[in-house]
Amino acid sequence: MKYPALIIDTNKIKENTRLLVDKCEKHSISVAGVTKVFCAIPEAAKAMLEGGAYMLADSRIENGKKLTDLDAPKLMLRLPLLSQVDELVENFDISLNSEYDTIKAISDKALEKGKQHGIIMMVDLGDLREGVWYEDAVEFAGTVLELKGVKLLGIGVNLTCYGGVIPTQKNLGQLVEIAEEIEKTYNIKLEIISGGNSSSIHLLDKGEMPKRINQLRLGESIALGFETAYGDRIKGTHRDAFTFAAQIIELKEKPSVPIGEIGMDAFGQKPVFEDRGLIKRAILGAGRQDIRPDGIVPKCEKISVLGASSDHLILDLTACDREYKVGDIIEFDLTYGGLLAACTSEYVEKVIR
Ligand SMILES: *Cc1c(COP(=O)(O)O)cnc(C)c1O
Repeated sequence: MKYPALIIDTNKIKENTRLLVDKCEKHSISVAGVTKVFCAIPEAAKAMLEGGAYMLADSRIENGKKLTDLDAPKLMLRLPLLSQVDELVENFDISLNSEYDTIKAISDKALEKGKQHGIIMMVDLGDLREGVWYEDAVEFAGTVLELKGVKLLGIGVNLTCYGGVIPTQKNLGQLVEIAEEIEKTYNIKLEIISGGNSSSIHLLDKGEMPKRINQLRLGESIALGFETAYGDRIKGTHRDAFTFAAQIIELKEKPSVPIGEIGMDAFGQKPVFEDRGLIKRAILGAGRQDIRPDGIVPKCEKISVLGASSDHLILDLTACDREYKVGDIIEFDLTYGGLLAACTSEYVEKVIR
């Protein structure tokens, strides 16, 4: 096997998806499986569909192209680039949008191709990432309804991403009110009211999810088993659907503080060292081109991550009972940022289990 490696347990992804789909189903909510954190690796995306996700969602055109063989509607999460409208219409059925000029360009392109593209209008309820400002939403919807190449499928919101605003009964209730105002004003029915990402899950258990919310777009909760409003583990999910593994290339007892005058490290930072005396120090053949040192959590709790340069990851093994040797493999769980980095790096071997 090649190292560093990212080991992907598709059965655990499927089981995590199933648990969340069941949880959502009780509230008449469908799950769009978000594939961007694992760069839309098709086997992992397929596991989401087998677990009951009804749609696949990603933020990149390149990722969408990897999903063409999977039979499910594709949703573009990031507001489309005007320069990518052609590829958008070709590879995705629906997109989240907030700009008239972009929606008009999508409509023109769809008509040219003899298609109709679905639009979910994003509403900004105050998190200050994407979305039409909530006071302008009803009027904006009217302008979208006039375009023939697109269909206004619904409205949505994205919270806790930039501003950190937590989804509540109140702000999602406000989204539902806006949807109903649009329906009344234009005498239409909206199919989708998309109530956010993994940070909305806490409302399900509390029974505080507004009734008409009928879609969630879930990534981290499926991949890692965390809800993201408070960072809590979701009971019954697997934490280890993804495992990072790297190999020991040096193992020696050395001081914990470098000898000599301290200048800058490889990344222009002046490093600070805690004096732990003489330690058992391992260097692994992995570095910042593969992973971020703050994004990996050693499966053995007695191991600590000291730092990393481009190609070297340095660990303290002093507290471990196990006798490691050069060539041994050390395994890690991942945070969201760690998983994103490992999936994005072409140097990390992806192993499907
Ligand atoms: C990334 C993203 C999601 C998924 O977020 P998770 O926290 O991983 O569930 C949902 N919606 C949008 C618009 C996103 O960009």
